[in-house]
Amino acid sequence: MVSQGLYGVENLAHIPGKVGAAPVQNIGAYGMELKDSFMQCQAMDLNTGQIHIFTNEACCFGYRESIFKHEIKGRYIITSVDFQLSKQGVLKTEYGNIKSYLTEHGMEHPTLQQLHDAICAIRDAKLPDVKQLGSAGSFFKNPVIPAARFEALQKDHPNMPHYDEPDGKVKVPAGWLIEQAGWKGWRNEHVGVYDKQALVLVHYGGGTGQDIVNLAQRIQHSVAEKFGIQISPEVNFV
Ligand SMILES: Cc1cc2nc3c(=O)[nH]c(=O)nc-3n(C[C@H](O)[C@H](O)[C@H](O)COP(=O)(O)OP(=O)(O)OC[C@H]3O[C@@H](n4cnc5c(N)ncnc54)[C@H](O)[C@@H]3O)c2cc1C
Repeated sequence: MVSQGLYGVENLAHIPGKVGAAPVQNIGAYGMELKDSFMQCQAMDLNTGQIHIFTNEACCFGYRESIFKHEIKGRYIITSVDFQLSKQGVLKTEYGNIKSYLTEHGMEHPTLQQLHDAICAIRDAKLPDVKQLGSAGSFFKNPVIPAARFEALQKDHPNMPHYDEPDGKVKVPAGWLIEQAGWKGWRNEHVGVYDKQALVLVHYGGGTGQDIVNLAQRIQHSVAEKFGIQISPEVNFV
């Protein structure tokens, strides 16, 4: 889409996966979500074989959420997705370290392609290559907390990164909370917390699913103890 000069999904560059899975968790990254450009999808009902159209509204998208993860979980196979993109657009560069990366590389006014390439480079530097080190990407969702709660926490943690949500609440990066709780780079023989991004749990080999679950629970407890914030998994457990 970017190579055709179409705006609307550029910040989602480099998220691994197929297009059919993208609506299932309303994939998102760097201040953009699938729902922002998703028009509708076609899906086959596995009970009846009939094809249904799900509009944006019908998908009930939320943060890493959709109807496909809840009410109709496992019932439909998404067979195509229609996007509504734009030939002109305003690039979103406010999120994470996009701005500082662009400045460092002399691209204060990037083109669509340059922003796409920058996001790919930023992700490559932060996320493990799944072919070399097993991970599911971000393990936890970024918690969204009431503004009053955030202001109280900010008194003790003035550097706490945060993003204002349209509904007045505040999103806090789970990776920062986990890092502050001392987990970044932690590992035992089999599993650990990625040393370049604390939001990513990694499998070094020889471990079990239970090892990952145990580690995730320990992280959740220590974040809750330190900040009073409950972080919840983004991943599906199978
Ligand atoms: C290194 C790394 C980084 C990641 N970064 C991000 C990120 O920044 N943002 C983000 O949102 N996600 C991220 N993820 C998660 C992952 O990329 C997404 O969840 C992606 O949508 C998975 O696509 P997939 O094709 O591998 O689906 P799978 O993992 O195979 O499936 C995911 C779910 O969707 C269902 N599903 C898959 N295809 C269909 C279909 N056609 N119809 C109906 N249901 C279907 C499956 O049953 C399953 O429940 C990351 C993962 C990794 C490993």
